[in-house]
Amino acid sequence: MNAAPLPEFLPFTRPAIDEETIAAVGDVLRSGWITSGPKVQAFEAALSALFGGRTVRAFNSGTITLEIALQLAGVAPGDEVITTPLSWVATANVILHLGAHPVFVDIDPLTRNIDLEQIEAAITLKTKAIIPVDLAGLPVDRDRLYAIARRHGLRVIEDAAQSLGSNWKGKAIGADGDFVSFSFHANKNLTTGEGGALVLPANIDPALCERLRLQGVKRQGGGEMDVDVAGHKGNLTDIAAAIGLGQLKHLAAFTERRRALARRYMAALEAAPILGLRLPLADFAQSNWHMFQVLLPLERMSLSRAGFIAALRERNIGAGVHYPAIHLFSLYRALGYREGDFPHAEDVGRRTLTLPLFPAMSDADVGAVCANMADLLNNAPL
Ligand SMILES: *Cc1c(COP(=O)(O)O)cnc(C)c1O
Repeated sequence: MNAAPLPEFLPFTRPAIDEETIAAVGDVLRSGWITSGPKVQAFEAALSALFGGRTVRAFNSGTITLEIALQLAGVAPGDEVITTPLSWVATANVILHLGAHPVFVDIDPLTRNIDLEQIEAAITLKTKAIIPVDLAGLPVDRDRLYAIARRHGLRVIEDAAQSLGSNWKGKAIGADGDFVSFSFHANKNLTTGEGGALVLPANIDPALCERLRLQGVKRQGGGEMDVDVAGHKGNLTDIAAAIGLGQLKHLAAFTERRRALARRYMAALEAAPILGLRLPLADFAQSNWHMFQVLLPLERMSLSRAGFIAALRERNIGAGVHYPAIHLFSLYRALGYREGDFPHAEDVGRRTLTLPLFPAMSDADVGAVCANMADLLNNAPL
């Protein structure tokens, strides 16, 4: 394999926006109406069609989407919410915003998602809800998760920020379940720049969701209004929705391309193994491969993870860390969490490295990334 540095910088991700989408944004900007309007409604309808006709509302971030979902689920101060310590910190921060307590449950090292075996031991009389996260797009086992939730009368807020386009046993993530929350941040598989969307269960009033989204305002006609709840400022713009509508046309192709690239990574790293490097679970049917993440053999490396990322950067290869375990951040340590509480999440959090993977990346790029990693890791002095 050729371990030459890449001629141009290869980021770990890059959005794919076509000219038609750029033109559609221009049309919105010229239309005289640029905040929430017809494009947001069309985007919500298109998402709903993707999720078997379920009710969908759009927001200006995945974080506010999650927070409003928790409010709609009835999470209140003092309640406990069970989630994974291996996620973007937004997943846990929204629990704190509501005055509730995040209760972490360690991950299954195989899937790197919440360990379903350990959830029941964490349930108390104060537990209100579970937030599963489909890390890197790999879906949590929905059958087992909902069986636990039903047995204990808990609500589920699926943090599907990374799993748009993934499926559970052939059914699109979002088409089933309780609350399902998505993010359209620039790095996600489908982007609006910043944005999010919530799939609502049938027993939740969409009008209440809309009031929580925009200042609690209830319009009564002729300019009259009432406010019965302190809502957020969470509405999406038509500018962003136009990007989302343009992206949706490519979602299936994006997912297919990501799966092909992930297969290529697996094949390359199996054909020319790097000693001690651990690969992700080989799910090419359900995962949307939001990220391709390897675990570094830190013990036998002469470089730290940060040093390795810098060495890759010198070879024009971008790599990222998603994520250090949440409970070890100072904010969460201050709540009483300590090193050793969740050994699997800590281990993955220390070793994980996200390699370049995005639809416009070439097959040759995968080979070059693997060859350069092998060159740095296999040939490094011990
Ligand atoms: C991106 C992400 C979020 C937050 O979404 P934003 O749109 O950035 O607010 C929440 N949870 C997970 C797992 C994410 O990856």
